[in-house]
Amino acid sequence: MKLKDYARLSATIRLKSGLHIGTGEKPERGEPLNVMLSKRTGYPYIPGSSLKGKMRHLLEIAFGRVETDPKDKGSPCWCGKCQVCLLFGSGSSGKTYEPTRLIFRDSFLTEASEDLLEKIELEEKPGVRIDRLTGKAAGGALFPMKRVPEGSEFSMEISVRVFENDDIDAIRRWLATGLFFMEQDALGGGGTRGSGYIEFEGVQFNGVAFDADWREKTKKQKDGMADVQVKK
Ligand SMILES: [Zn+2]
Repeated sequence: MKLKDYARLSATIRLKSGLHIGTGEKPERGEPLNVMLSKRTGYPYIPGSSLKGKMRHLLEIAFGRVETDPKDKGSPCWCGKCQVCLLFGSGSSGKTYEPTRLIFRDSFLTEASEDLLEKIELEEKPGVRIDRLTGKAAGGALFPMKRVPEGSEFSMEISVRVFENDDIDAIRRWLATGLFFMEQDALGGGGTRGSGYIEFEGVQFNGVAFDADWREKTKKQKDGMADVQVKK
């Protein structure tokens, strides 16, 4: 198989709520959960792995590709052959038959959002567990978490390897579906409690802007997506 071309999807990620992409480190007692900071800029960023993992997971659960082997429950699909594996890579190196099509770049804050963060700083969301009987905060509350404040914007980019016999429009449609799901869901920590509500703005695929009604179109086409083949 021959690598024919690279396509590129770009967009701005706008936060509609605070965002917490954790470092995985457990803080000292009383300290908040920190967010990932770029070593280069010193500001929060969204690792490509976070975006990739989230989009893949949502597409897998939407199209029934979640691994159901009881020994390996919850792991990414490792069939190596479905459209999700074709785009995101197989979860098992032993079952990788083709090169991964999608390359997720890290997303960095726009300059305006860096300036904003200089002024208002990261917010701290208290982690509170409510006592079911009294309705008051219970003891042993969750850790408070730091969040990038709502309204902040990140520049996102996905590079796409296009091989001979790949249907580039099918790739664009799979990506649109992934973006649509991510807007309905949440990114990062505390997602079921309000964090990580995101929106994509100015989405472009190969220099062509998505139609204004791309969300409605994607919603309509969603049920047929399983039949949209990247490679015939
Ligand atoms: Zn698969």
